[in-house]
Amino acid sequence: MEKEYREEDYLQLSGIQHFLYCRRQWALIHIEQQWSENGLTTDGKLFHQRVHDENAIELRGDTLSVRGMRISSCHLGITGCCDLVEFHRVKEKGISLQGYLGQWSVTPIEYKRGKFDYCEADAAQLCAEALCLEEMLCCEIPCGILFWGEKHRRVKVDLDDALRIRTCNAIDEMHQYYARGYTPKAVKRPGCDNCSLVNICLPELNDTCSVSDYIREKLEDTH
Ligand code: SF4
Repeated sequence: MEKEYREEDYLQLSGIQHFLYCRRQWALIHIEQQWSENGLTTDGKLFHQRVHDENAIELRGDTLSVRGMRISSCHLGITGCCDLVEFHRVKEKGISLQGYLGQWSVTPIEYKRGKFDYCEADAAQLCAEALCLEEMLCCEIPCGILFWGEKHRRVKVDLDDALRIRTCNAIDEMHQYYARGYTPKAVKRPGCDNCSLVNICLPELNDTCSVSDYIREKLEDTH
């Protein structure tokens, strides 16, 4: 029987990107609730707010665009929001949509900011969105789109079995970390200098596991 998570155990879908980039970064944000803004994260937040602020539902010809759609999966235990879901009217093998005639295919579109820079973490986030939509709408989604708005660059991502397995495994691992309250040790990498958590993570002290343990040790040292 397929696993089902309780809503209170759902993890943030967008966290999969952090997790695949750096598991410690994900754990600091999602387990230890540590967060710090830098220029890059503030830009990213404002960018996604702008995407979601546009007209929520818009029908143009045979394309229905829905922005900021809330999504979740009880089998994966994740919840989040799609930047954009495009429904295209098709002749067959589509789904029905209340209030709209015909059959419709479903395509999630994830907006990216900055320069074109395809990475596996973005593809996995898109795949996780598609898995939620498939569960919610009882449909099959063969592909999604990554869209770099400033560059007007759309990249079609095939949601093949390999990507689906990688995505599900990552989400499963996130749940295991979360259940254990486990924050991995820091491993310094080139991206650390641009990480908003660098001053909290302290990657140069790579024997430091949890920020809360580190703070506790420091407090004990002062007594
Ligand atoms: S500073 Fe480096 S190791 Fe620490 S959370 Fe950020 S990316 Fe990960």
